[in-house]
Amino acid sequence: MEEKPLQSVFFHFRFKFLAITTIAFLMYVILSGAGEFDEFAKSPEFKMLGPFLLFAMALFFTFRKFPIKCPHCHKILPTKKNWRCPECGQEQGKDRYLIDKCRHCKQVPATSFCDDCKEEFRL
Ligand SMILES: [Zn+2]
Ligand SMILES: [Zn+2]
Repeated sequence: MEEKPLQSVFFHFRFKFLAITTIAFLMYVILSGAGEFDEFAKSPEFKMLGPFLLFAMALFFTFRKFPIKCPHCHKILPTKKNWRCPECGQEQGKDRYLIDKCRHCKQVPATSFCDDCKEEFRL
């Protein structure tokens, strides 16, 4: 059926990477923590937790907005647009991020189309 696998722009990969980093950091803080909560709350690892989570959130919003590049024509594409869902084929009706779930079938889009060359690629 498919002649060749679709090229990927590693859009979802950004968020997987961020999630894994955040979980790894939380594990580190929890595992390195002292038994007593008072001591734990005073530890430098615990104090880093707040700034780290803010940083992770800032990265999340940056990643969400950061444009993707079409693997076919190398045009820079916005990540927020009225995208057509590859699952149910319906348009979103308003500008939404590609990380959002489809309004109709609640699926996160796995692929997207280039606005310029109309080629499909994996997110
Ligand atoms: Zn293109
Ligand atoms: Zn859909």
